Amino acid sequence: MRRSFSTPALFAAVMLMLLPGRAAEAQQSSDTIRARDGTPIPLIPKAPEGMAEGAVWIPPMPPLEATLPAEGWEPPGYEQPPMPYILLRLPRTNITRAGYPAIDFHVHAGELTTPEAYESMIALMDSIGMGAIINLNGGTGAHLDSTLAAGEPHRDRVVNFVTLNLDGINEPGWSEWMAGEMERGFLAGAGGLKVAKSLGQGARNPDGSFIQADDPRLDAVWAMAAKYDMPVMIHTSDSVGRFYPIGPLNERYEAGLWRHPGDTSGNLYASGPPREVIEVARERMLAKHPTTRFVLGHMAMLYYDPGRLGTLLDTYPNADLETSAAIQDLGRAPRLWREFFLKYQDRILFGTDGNRRRTIDDFWTPHWRFLETFDEHFYHPAQVRTLGGSPGHGRYNIYGIGLPDDVLRKIYFENALRHLPHMRDSIERQLAERGG
Ligand SMILES: [Zn+2]
Repeated sequence: MRRSFSTPALFAAVMLMLLPGRAAEAQQSSDTIRARDGTPIPLIPKAPEGMAEGAVWIPPMPPLEATLPAEGWEPPGYEQPPMPYILLRLPRTNITRAGYPAIDFHVHAGELTTPEAYESMIALMDSIGMGAIINLNGGTGAHLDSTLAAGEPHRDRVVNFVTLNLDGINEPGWSEWMAGEMERGFLAGAGGLKVAKSLGQGARNPDGSFIQADDPRLDAVWAMAAKYDMPVMIHTSDSVGRFYPIGPLNERYEAGLWRHPGDTSGNLYASGPPREVIEVARERMLAKHPTTRFVLGHMAMLYYDPGRLGTLLDTYPNADLETSAAIQDLGRAPRLWREFFLKYQDRILFGTDGNRRRTIDDFWTPHWRFLETFDEHFYHPAQVRTLGGSPGHGRYNIYGIGLPDDVLRKIYFENALRHLPHMRDSIERQLAERGG
C-alpha cells in the first residue's frame, strides 16, 4: 500500500499558472511540485474539462494516498508552536455567557459522583450561562448508581446518560446485560444512552474485524432506548484526517498530531477500518431502528462533506446532529454552514465535548461567539492543546455564523428539549430569570 508520493492528476497543472515562480521546480515532474527541501506542495483541484466559466462544482476529497509522505520521511519531533497572535484590529463582540440558557448535549463529567463535584460543575455553568448539561459519562453499574444518587438534587441542571460498555460483547448474554443496565438507569433517572467511537473503530470481533453500529448484538440496545423513548447520543467515525496517512500534507498533522517519530495514536490509515465502512454501518443502524432517536455527535463527523450530511438528515428523520468538536471546521466556511444551520434548524443540537477543566476564554466563549456573532478570524474553542500550545483540533482561525434569535433558541435548547422534555420547566424558569 505504502508508496512514494505522487500527486493525483486531478490536482495538477493549474499550479503552473498560479505559481509561475515555481515553474522550474515543476518541470522536474509533470504532476508534482516540491519545495526546496523536497516536500510536496499541495496542488489545487482543477474543474472537470469543459465546465462553463463561473459554474460551481464540489471537488472530491483527495485520495487517501495523497497525504503519503516521501519514503523515509519522519516527523521532525519538535512541538508545534502555538497559534500566532492575530495582528489585525477587528471588531469583537463582548460576549462571556451564552445568549440563552443553553443545553450542552455533550459534556464529559465522570467525576459527578459526589455533591461537591455537582456544585463545582453548576458554579461553572452559572458563570458561562449554561442552562443544563448532559453528562455522557454516567457509565454502568456502581458508577451509574453513585452518579444518579449524587445528582438527585440537581436534576434540573444535569442529565446523566448511561454509557454503552462494549466489554464482554463477544460473550454470550452481553446484549441482555447492556439493555438491562439501560432499563435500570432509565428507571432511576438517567436521560439517555451515550455511545463512544470505540464502536466502529475500537472494539473487535473474535476474528479481529471491527464491531460496527449495525451489529445485531446491538439491536436490543437500540430497542431499549426506543422502548423508553430515550435519545442515543452516538459518536461514530472520526476526524477525516485520521483516516489519511500521517504526513505534512495531512491537516491533522498540521494541527499538532503525530509530531513525534513513531507516534501513530488515533490514526486509522494503517490499521483502522475505512471511514466508508463505519458510515455505511451507521446508516444501516438508522434504517433498521426508525423509532429510536439518534443524536449523531460531532456533526456525524461529516463536517468535511456538507452535501452528504444534508442527505443523511433528509434520509433519516430519526437522526439529529450535535455540534461538539466541529466548530473549528464549521468556522472555516461560515457562509455555507450558516445556510446549513438555517435549513436544518430543527435538527441540530448544541454540544461542546467540554468538561470541568475547560477554561472560559479558551473554550466556552468561542462557542457563543461562533453561534451568536459575525465576528471574524478568532481562535476556535480549543478542545485540546499540544504541549507546544497548538490547538490539537486544527491550526485555524474561524468566523461567526451570527444565527438569528429564533434559530439560536432552537440550537441552544428547543431541539434538545424535544429529546429531554422533562427539562423544559428548568429552561423556562431560567429564561424567565433572564427576562425572557
Ligand atoms: Zn465526547
